[in-house]
Amino acid sequence: MKVSAAVVEELGAPFRVEELELDEPGPGEALVRIVASGICHTDEITRHGDLPMPFPGVLGHEGAGVVVAVGDDVTAVRPGDHVVIGWPSCGTCRNCRDGEPRYCARLGEALCGGGRLLGPSAGRPALRRPGGTPVHSHFFGQSSFATYSLTWAEALVVVPKDAPLALLGPLACGFSTGAGAVLNTLRPAPGASLVVYGVGAVGLAAVMAARLTPATTIIAVDRHPARLALAAELGATHTVDARAADPVAEVRRLCDGPADHALECTGVISVVRQAADSVGMLGTCVLIGGAPAGAEFGLDHLSTLWGKRIVGTLGGSGRAQPLIGALIELHRQGRFPFDRLARFYELGEIGEALAASRRGEVIKPILRMDH
Ligand SMILES: [Zn+2]
Ligand SMILES: [Zn+2]
Repeated sequence: MKVSAAVVEELGAPFRVEELELDEPGPGEALVRIVASGICHTDEITRHGDLPMPFPGVLGHEGAGVVVAVGDDVTAVRPGDHVVIGWPSCGTCRNCRDGEPRYCARLGEALCGGGRLLGPSAGRPALRRPGGTPVHSHFFGQSSFATYSLTWAEALVVVPKDAPLALLGPLACGFSTGAGAVLNTLRPAPGASLVVYGVGAVGLAAVMAARLTPATTIIAVDRHPARLALAAELGATHTVDARAADPVAEVRRLCDGPADHALECTGVISVVRQAADSVGMLGTCVLIGGAPAGAEFGLDHLSTLWGKRIVGTLGGSGRAQPLIGALIELHRQGRFPFDRLARFYELGEIGEALAASRRGEVIKPILRMDH
């Protein structure tokens, strides 16, 4: 079938909307009409080569839409189901079997192999140009910067039909990543203190999630005053402008010592060190932001030895289904107002959406597909 998709021709090339051919669903696969797809920092860093996605290819990994067709042997979803396209995983490796599909042993292939991970057509892209040249697909199992996506049916998360579908795609990555780091990984104790470095989409989701816990000190650190103001509205008890003060000293002043937890959402190596230095004995620093490929960071050895934990997390850890379901219900109850971070663009406006995001004017750009 014909689809419109934003193609990246080669490393660093701009997104260009083209008409492509998409395969029909084979065994285990589902065809999803994309209603809207969020844009995430990872799409940008992949376009510049920090994840080894082959090009030409279609990025996008925060898709939400409606199932329109399924292949043989699919029982997880039916045509008409409203879905968020969840995290891809093999389902059979040790980590998948242990309930940790975010850390699937075949994760590299699953996220950016450029084709299907599973099924009889494993390894093959699902997209091609009208002349037959293949275009790489299945970025994070979805390649959602397109009007339709061919996905592995088991990765889909069915959502309630009365939920605002166009807003839900970012629950596949950005919002789940920030919220899951707090709710799945840190689980703050009563009275805990927590500092979030970088309050873009992921950091603000962490702030909103922290407000749902018994943590009593929630500090947001950023360089954009507008983001700090929003963080304060969404649950931060304190804000620190990193341009005006040494954030580590400010955290120690506000917490009367080190914080219990730090979340590093920027991927900037100097900030990784600040986040690690913000927690003390038995404190936990969670690394979330994606740094450039090959980046390294340093730590103070002695203070790390004192029971400090530095933990990496992907996608919010845990399984996608329960977290996404809970965040949708919390949103309905007014307790996780992620709609305040979103702004809609058309697929053809993807360049403008990215530019506005880089300038810090929009926190979560979402591309609405015109059908
Ligand atoms: Zn992402
Ligand atoms: Zn696996």
